[in-house]
Amino acid sequence: MNIKRNDARSGAQPGQHPAAPAGAPPGGGPGAPTNASAESAVASNFIRNIIDDDNRSGKWGQRVETRFPPEPNGYLHIGHAKSICVNFGIARDYGGVCHLRFDDTNPEKEDVEYVNSIIDAVRWLGFDWQKDGREHLYFASDYYDKLYAFAELLIQRGKAYVDSQSAEQMRATRGTLIEPGTPSPYRDRTPEENLALFRRMKAGEFAEGAHVLRAKIDMASPNINMRDPVIYRIRFAHHYRTGDAWCVYPMYDYTHCICDALENITHSLCTLEFEDHRPLYDWFLAELADAGVFTRPLPQQIEFSRLNLTYVITSKRKLLQLVEGKHVDGWDDPRMPTIVGLRRRGFTPESIRLMCERTGLTKVNSWIDFGLLEAALREDLDERAPRAIAVLDPLKLIVDNYPQDSEEICSAPVHPHHPERGTRTFPFSRELWIEREDFNENPPKGYFRLFPGNRVRLRYGFVVECTGVDKDDHGNIVAVHCHYFTDSKSGTEGSNHYKVKGNIHWVSAAHAYRAEVRLYDRLFKEPQPDAGGRDFLEALNPDAKRVVTAYLEPGAQQFLPEDRAQFERHGYFVADRVDSVPGQPVFNRIVSLRDSWGKSA
Ligand code: ATP
Ligand code: MG
Repeated sequence: MNIKRNDARSGAQPGQHPAAPAGAPPGGGPGAPTNASAESAVASNFIRNIIDDDNRSGKWGQRVETRFPPEPNGYLHIGHAKSICVNFGIARDYGGVCHLRFDDTNPEKEDVEYVNSIIDAVRWLGFDWQKDGREHLYFASDYYDKLYAFAELLIQRGKAYVDSQSAEQMRATRGTLIEPGTPSPYRDRTPEENLALFRRMKAGEFAEGAHVLRAKIDMASPNINMRDPVIYRIRFAHHYRTGDAWCVYPMYDYTHCICDALENITHSLCTLEFEDHRPLYDWFLAELADAGVFTRPLPQQIEFSRLNLTYVITSKRKLLQLVEGKHVDGWDDPRMPTIVGLRRRGFTPESIRLMCERTGLTKVNSWIDFGLLEAALREDLDERAPRAIAVLDPLKLIVDNYPQDSEEICSAPVHPHHPERGTRTFPFSRELWIEREDFNENPPKGYFRLFPGNRVRLRYGFVVECTGVDKDDHGNIVAVHCHYFTDSKSGTEGSNHYKVKGNIHWVSAAHAYRAEVRLYDRLFKEPQPDAGGRDFLEALNPDAKRVVTAYLEPGAQQFLPEDRAQFERHGYFVADRVDSVPGQPVFNRIVSLRDSWGKSA
């Protein structure tokens, strides 16, 4: 199957325009693929076109080496999943390899806890960083010696200098978009002076902020990033890997391109906000190539647009705010758009990859409807998930003409489209649980479920006729009564002769498996909760988590943590991987069967 993709060279296409309303996913229109196998279809896009051109010209031989470079300062989110799928997916499709590289040059914020969670997340999404038996797992901090040596080399070649202005002064002299910057009074220090100062910075002789090392490029450049950017600063901070060995730390722009070159990355794929940094990326590598450190061709940075998903926020800083403010129950809260949260919620790696694949690659920022991820999940699980019955809002149904201490077995397919997967069985008895909303004493027009005098089929069981209700002193309905028809059992001869319009689910009260069910919904009420710098906390959906006690068919006892099922008529659920223990099961609703969001359901 071939999916039409947006090609940056041909510009935005309908549905992918920045101004397109949320809910208009690219390729989501008529004719959009509806089969999970679409995931494996190699879609063309502008990055693949560049790689194909390189392979034709033999620029890299036929080598394709990419990297995914997270900073271990938080848990990965769905936006990172996009980058993972792009980088690892392209490497896989071209027979190359994608490196997992921790971009860990900010000692204050980084931690091994985040490293481990990132490794788990990438693996869980289905990718690895091995090729020919070799692991391609790297840490920018492993290159500190080299990065430092290259900085000395730049100083010696007159391409970097120690600036002793304050941060404030540097900001004031940087210029604006329309005015050039003003050169620092320290800009013309000799290489000898600079080298001596830089070595003393490294030796810990100066306080934080006393000096920085800057690249000597062009204070009048129209690109502010090129106005002598800082490449090293002094920080007396403990680094989670290098400890106290360093008190000077390299900046991102300097580090990133050098790591790419050291690792022989061919295509360095990143998000659009780095477009203005590309000249700097190229400048550092060209200078070091001129100095004989690297050979050409040099890695090529290529930018693509970020994934923005409606109803979620994709900023580690803001997600941290949700965790620290206790608006959610931690990084892996099933409402969180973190990979650990999505996993705990029950999303499959396949559904996430499918969504990433379908949203394609472009050069224009746009919003993708969260419904696209939910649709991918439904598509994936519709095929795979076994069916089960769960009553989430129980109301007692008493079958008055069924013998008191009797029971009989009913059966249903494990999967309606896959008879080969067998059947499941559960007992029918005198007292059942049904869904409270499946009974209505005063039914509105068109209500076909239970009401006094009406008949319905108890799914996989018998046809019953409602005979009355029991109420408590406050007039609340506590039980519904009915009669069953002995010759109406599903699957038996003649059962079809009962024509009823309603078909409701049930479980036998005496045999039901009691479970806590967490009904999750979207974390935010609004599609773009943090748009325009507004306070996203105000858009929090207070009903995003509801906990109920449910009754499940007895076979549900077999579900292990992370097993998923379709609870018939309700949606897809997963046994919670953290809180579910034998005898005290907890299930999370992943998504309902149909997208009813925003419609009055
Ligand atoms: P955040 O702003 O949430 O902290 P980040 O970009 O600073 O994200 P990094 O750890 O630096 O986090 O990200 C690693 C990689 O993931 C980068 O290459 C970055 O471009 C990419 N990435 C982050 N967010 C998205 C997104 N929403 N869509 C696509 N790629 C993303
Ligand atoms: Mg970052």
